[in-house]
Amino acid sequence: MNKLFKKFDVAVIGGGPAGILAAGQAAEQGAKVVLLEKNSALGKKLLLAGNGRCNITQIDHDARGFVEKIGKNGKFLFSAFSVFGPKEVVEFFEEKNLPTKVEKNGRVFPVSDDAIDVLSTLTKYLKDNGVEIITNAQVFGFEFAENKISGVKLKDQIILADKFILCTGGKAYPATGSTGDGYVWAEELGHTIVTPIPALAPVKIKEDWVGDLQGLSLEAANISLWQNEKKQASFQGEMLFTHFGLSGPMIIDASKTINLLLQTGSVTIELELFPEFTVSELDKKLVLAFEENNRKDIKNYFRELLSRKMLDLILKLTEIDPDKKLNFLTKKERYKIVALLKSLKFTVSEVMGFEQAMITSGGVALKEIDPKTMHSKIIENLYFAGEILDLDGPTGGYNLQICWSTGYVAGESAGRN
Ligand SMILES: Cc1cc2nc3c(=O)[nH]c(=O)nc-3n(C[C@H](O)[C@H](O)[C@H](O)COP(=O)(O)OP(=O)(O)OC[C@H]3O[C@@H](n4cnc5c(N)ncnc54)[C@H](O)[C@@H]3O)c2cc1C
Repeated sequence: MNKLFKKFDVAVIGGGPAGILAAGQAAEQGAKVVLLEKNSALGKKLLLAGNGRCNITQIDHDARGFVEKIGKNGKFLFSAFSVFGPKEVVEFFEEKNLPTKVEKNGRVFPVSDDAIDVLSTLTKYLKDNGVEIITNAQVFGFEFAENKISGVKLKDQIILADKFILCTGGKAYPATGSTGDGYVWAEELGHTIVTPIPALAPVKIKEDWVGDLQGLSLEAANISLWQNEKKQASFQGEMLFTHFGLSGPMIIDASKTINLLLQTGSVTIELELFPEFTVSELDKKLVLAFEENNRKDIKNYFRELLSRKMLDLILKLTEIDPDKKLNFLTKKERYKIVALLKSLKFTVSEVMGFEQAMITSGGVALKEIDPKTMHSKIIENLYFAGEILDLDGPTGGYNLQICWSTGYVAGESAGRN
């Protein structure tokens, strides 16, 4: 190998949102910084964020509310949030001439609705601060001696630096470059890796008939997750039916819990179409309604209450003739309808894997990282930021905020003298 050496104060590995913030912040402290990215351009995944609109952050909560949404590991973020939280992120972009807007549930987007503008703003920020950006720079590993890293190995050169910030992301959407390389190196360097699993992913369903509902979207659905005849969790929100199963924001948020439950047995998702009524209330309502509309056939009556696809499915599953008049409907048939309206059950086949998942749950164990600086407690001159850490949140701008906060703090501490 033809070894060429280049020396920096800080080398940042991975040019996603966390790496970009870390590199920019380190440079703002006066450090000579290099950002190494294996793709031909920075921020490939960032450009996909929010369906290309980029949900930059989430401002619906105070710090406590935000960390609660992250779950048991959320409290690790308190310190980084106090330095660079959602408010500071909005200010950061606004100061750099990227106006933002707030949409439903505190989701913040650029006014232009274009992730390219977010990436351009960040790239300019790096250039303005003199960060050397090297693309097509796949890192293969580290040079390491006496508990310190001295360099990163590229194909034909070694980058020497005093400090290193690892921001290679997780394993989700590997086509964007996030192939989990950082986990392997972190483990080799002595860090514990909490097993990475796909999170925020669509869910495959066993029942073939789910495909009949393909394209149907429910804006405010209620689902419960069941295992061993016990209700394990409930979720509310928007869901979408696909040819293979279930998707949409609520399902994607529930997928982490589903995946965890699948480790101990099979999981059933129960959809409740009329959550405002109990079974007996709904039955009574239908008795009255059927009496008032007794000349109507069942398909015409329910068309006002259910979407066409859902109605067709319910009639198919109950095996009731769609043309049957309401006054000919038996009690047993009515019960069958009520039972399905209150509890339409889907058996989970699997949560889609890393190829389809938006996020990786798991990663570098937080107990080995200083939450104030993102400094490794194991390796003297190593820092971490972003999705590589054992932190993940629901949809809504939480995950990018984790990257901005941890990236900022890691860069600021590594860049200081
Ligand atoms: C489809 C999709 C939509 C999303 N939408 C949103 C959203 O709207 N809001 C939100 O908050 N979150 C969203 N997320 C999640 C968010 O994009 C991620 O949390 C975020 O990108 C993680 O940033 P990161 O910098 O830690 O890692 P990444 O963005 O994964 O960046 C890591 C970088 O490291 C590089 N790299 C990896 N290995 C090497 C190596 N060996 N050598 C050199 N470079 C390497 C990769 O090429 C990559 O560019 C979305 C995710 C997906 C997949």
